[in-house]
Amino acid sequence: MAFRAPLTHHHADDTLCPANHKHTSSGKPLHPDCPGRAYTKAVCSCGDWGKRDCGKGYVNECRRQHLANHAQGPKVLRDLLRLAAF
Ligand SMILES: [Zn+2]
Ligand SMILES: [Zn+2]
Repeated sequence: MAFRAPLTHHHADDTLCPANHKHTSSGKPLHPDCPGRAYTKAVCSCGDWGKRDCGKGYVNECRRQHLANHAQGPKVLRDLLRLAAF
C-alpha cells in the first residue's frame, strides 16, 4: 500500500494558497488576492502523520523521512518477522 503526503501551502487564515499564486524569490506575493504564504503543510494518507511549519524545506524533509519509513514496511510487521527468525 502506497502512502502519499502531498505538500500544500496556506495563507495565515488557513485558506489554501494555490499553485497559481506566484511569489517572488523572496516570498512576496505577485497575485492580487494573495496575502502571502504563511505556512506549508503535509498530511500523510496513513492518517497518523502531519507536519505544519513555515519552512517549506523543513516540511518537505520531514515528509520524505516519514514516507521512507512506510517504504520499509510497518514496524509491527518488521517486529513479527524478527520474532519469526528465532
Ligand atoms: Zn496565496
Ligand atoms: Zn504515513
